[in-house]
Amino acid sequence: MDVTPILESLNEAQRTAVTAPPEPLLVIAGAGSGKTRVLTHRIAWLIDVEGVSPQGLLAVTFTNKAAAEMRGRIEALLQMPVNHLWIGTFHGLAHRLLRRHWKEAGLPQNFQIIDADDQQRIIKRLIKSLEVDDDRWAPREIQYFINAQKDEGLRPQHLDDENDPNRRQQIAFYHQYQEICDRGGLVDFAELLLRAHELWRDTPELLAQYQRRFRHLLVDEFQDTNAIQYAWLRLLAGKEGVPFVVGDDDQSIYRWRGARVEHIQQFQKDFSGASVVKLEQNYRSTETILDAANAVIRNNTARLGKNLWTEGGQGEPVRIYSAYNERDEAEFVIGKLRTWSEQGNARADAAVLYRSNAQSRVLEEALINARLPYRVYGGLRFFERQEIKDALAYLRLISHRDDDSSFERIVNKPTRGIGARTLEAMRSYARANSCSMWRAAGAVASNALSGRASSAIVVFLNLIERMARDTDGLDLHEQVDHVIQASGLIEFFRKEKGERGETRIENLEELVSAAKGFEPDPAEEMSHLDAFLSHAALEAGEGQADAWEDCVQLMTMHSAKGLEFPLVFMCGMEDGLFPHQRSIADPNGLEEERRLCYVGITRAKESLYITHAEQRRLHGMDSFAQASRFIAEIPDELVEEIRPRVQVSRPVHSAPGRRGRAGSVAPGAELGVRLGQRVRHGKFGDGVILNCSGQGAHAQVEVNFESVGTKILVLAYANLDLM
Ligand code: ATP
Ligand code: MG
Repeated sequence: MDVTPILESLNEAQRTAVTAPPEPLLVIAGAGSGKTRVLTHRIAWLIDVEGVSPQGLLAVTFTNKAAAEMRGRIEALLQMPVNHLWIGTFHGLAHRLLRRHWKEAGLPQNFQIIDADDQQRIIKRLIKSLEVDDDRWAPREIQYFINAQKDEGLRPQHLDDENDPNRRQQIAFYHQYQEICDRGGLVDFAELLLRAHELWRDTPELLAQYQRRFRHLLVDEFQDTNAIQYAWLRLLAGKEGVPFVVGDDDQSIYRWRGARVEHIQQFQKDFSGASVVKLEQNYRSTETILDAANAVIRNNTARLGKNLWTEGGQGEPVRIYSAYNERDEAEFVIGKLRTWSEQGNARADAAVLYRSNAQSRVLEEALINARLPYRVYGGLRFFERQEIKDALAYLRLISHRDDDSSFERIVNKPTRGIGARTLEAMRSYARANSCSMWRAAGAVASNALSGRASSAIVVFLNLIERMARDTDGLDLHEQVDHVIQASGLIEFFRKEKGERGETRIENLEELVSAAKGFEPDPAEEMSHLDAFLSHAALEAGEGQADAWEDCVQLMTMHSAKGLEFPLVFMCGMEDGLFPHQRSIADPNGLEEERRLCYVGITRAKESLYITHAEQRRLHGMDSFAQASRFIAEIPDELVEEIRPRVQVSRPVHSAPGRRGRAGSVAPGAELGVRLGQRVRHGKFGDGVILNCSGQGAHAQVEVNFESVGTKILVLAYANLDLM
């Protein structure tokens, strides 16, 4: 047998992993060392050389995009399609299992997936419907609580209130939230994993069947598995399974979502005798980029520690740009992108990375002005746009009348005279009778309501029934087209003034195209409509489909994990933004931010630009910031500063690092204010000046306000009254 294509262009260590005997194996290695490549080649090796059927493999990747790419690479290596290969994200695979075994999992056949946004709405309504103080309970916090419990595998009945009334209430919310979901056949993301785990735990025959089928379990980005994912994997592996997991402890960046890097050590305990392969050669980046990444991550204490080297040559220095503000920063990035593109490079080879989603807006504006096509991954999510969710809600209700979340969304959209009181009547009927809103609507319409209100409900119920009849048997995209017309949504948005309405209509039309282009996974067994709706819910977190147009890639550092680009910009590298304010004081949080920085730097193959702004307007607030401490961790000899910060005319009284990051506190006398002075601000009230810095238009003061705490204000705009 000719195995050359599979082993070709693999180094010794990579070959050892790819051709390892069927025993548990852990590949632990730094960024760009070929972990994902090893995983892909292992699959090809198992199929081609070991004669394992593609049906006997289960491969887990971190995004659907990565799964699609991996499938493509395996097919290219084997030169044949591998349709029956189960490859996907933990969520995607759990979903597939639940679709097949809905009955055993205690779900209705046409259960619907809800995303974070739907989940929050349900919780909001729940808080309102209960006699609790709305102000005390933030939906977001309860959502976080519920998901965190699910990620640990815990149901409300497993939780102890520890005699804490707060916790008791949280548990009660969880309990009631789950009842609403169960009644409506709604499954949130965390529930997908938890149910899939319980399915196996509670039906040993089924588990045994899957254990026999999936002997080989391959997991990429293993460092970011959470408790329930790991438990699921262990159950499936049982005693005979052969897990093959690859990861990098330095790239664990989802602790905040329950990921546990400790699973790397746990794996070696749980699968005693597991071999460990380390890869040390990086094939992605130049020496300079790799040295910069290594220098940053070296500052973390909690590490397994490993060496990484490259033959990639020294390459260009890491370029650092100090912008005056976020617009200057965006202009700089756009200038470089334009040159890149004019030099004949593909725009898609350039990525602009940032710490938080909100930063994308200014960059997007500048890109639009410069007429540079771009695509935002994980930000402007097509399937999360309002009008798309409206249309999907109609489709979901057609498929599943008891879906309360969809019902609430569209019962009066477009407006059809169903007011708040009518809705409240339906809700209380639903609560009292433990039934869905759909059934409550039927009952309420024929009972107590005024003639007008009840006929409005009947119109709505008939509309949905009629749409269900009319779309029955149509092709998926015809169904979608029918629904956006018959629902009145197109008409409704046409009335919305200006470009916004037009964009919404375009988006709705795009949904028909999306349905047309939709190819259900051959291994799924459900109606095309249900498959499409599930796809929409699962894809929503991942940005749009691959663009036909060559465009610059915008994304958060988190979404960039596993990817690589010849040209990378890391924007907004400022203390407070990156590392994020809420992590600075917490050593573990700071180390996670540093790992994220390591992920960002190691995405770059050839050129890396790091930018930061002295002044930034974000979420409508102006603030001044120092360059990120991570910048100072990169050795001087690797760096070229494009606009040295010395230009800024501030007295710097100590400068331990480069770029004056220790701050620059002036006595403040020339500003007309003094430290300790009491001031009054129109919005923040009374406070005391703690610090003054900068001069002229740059002058800023730090004020400790009695009611809102410390703020840094631009003196020229702050309009402070001296007291
Ligand atoms: P990350 O930690 O970022 O996920 P990784 O360890 O998964 O990175 P890969 O993405 O698999 O690394 O590989 C990085 C790059 O190096 C890819 O472009 C890959 O094709 C290339 N590469 C890996 N191994 C080799 C090799 N032996 N010869 C040539 N190129 C290689
Ligand atoms: Mg990888």
